[in-house]
Amino acid sequence: MHDQALKQARDALHERLHRDGLVEQARSASRLFAGDFSEATTVGHHFAGSLLGLGVMHEILGEVVSLRGETWRVPMTGVPVPVDADDGVAFAIAAHGGRRHRMRVPSGTSLESTQHVVDDYLARVHRDAQQVVCAIEMHGRFTDVVLRTVAPPQHDGETLGEIIDDEVRFSFSTWTGTMVGFRFPDSSKGETIPGLHLHGIADDRRSGGHLRSMIVDNVTTHLWIDELHPVRNGGPDGDTELANPIDFGRYEGPTTNASDSP
Ligand SMILES: [Zn+2]
Repeated sequence: MHDQALKQARDALHERLHRDGLVEQARSASRLFAGDFSEATTVGHHFAGSLLGLGVMHEILGEVVSLRGETWRVPMTGVPVPVDADDGVAFAIAAHGGRRHRMRVPSGTSLESTQHVVDDYLARVHRDAQQVVCAIEMHGRFTDVVLRTVAPPQHDGETLGEIIDDEVRFSFSTWTGTMVGFRFPDSSKGETIPGLHLHGIADDRRSGGHLRSMIVDNVTTHLWIDELHPVRNGGPDGDTELANPIDFGRYEGPTTNASDSP
């Protein structure tokens, strides 16, 4: 009986310490990459009341970034456009609630290294990056920023990989704004996009998009940690089994060498 009470107390403490964020995703990454760009949900349904989020508009009408329930799409001009609550999104991930952790990301940290900083932080609070999903918000000044957006499909059946091959990149020597997104585990059966995935919205709301490269200058970083939950599908016909794994690093990851520049 004593052991049972102790266990309950410990479970309650664990629950309180780790009552972290809730992360919800509409549509699996594999269905999106296979070319299903139909409306999985609406902006209002998915992002209203959320802390932060990212995604892509239905029919690839731009990358999506959401901050405190305010949501923009970034079309080919690179200038964010506020979206309406009833606008559709083909893919969306939103973070809700939970306990906020403050994390230090030193000046000079690259996008690749930011993931290591997140993982080191998780290890210090006894969490494993492969067992949880983190929502992340970085606000402040960055240098060497490359943001990208994508155009609507040019023909029927175009995959997201083919669309991203024609991504439009916007480079900024210095950039001030907010980067929001997620650190998902490194391996996935195609439900999620692995690794660190951030979208930006500038303080002046004149630039934004999917982040391909940056160096931290002076930023404040917060994160929210969530247990992994199954992805909620954004359509009636379930997941798409992929013949080949998606090369997420190529399409979504950091650009690391000069030959990869536009
Ligand atoms: Zn993205």
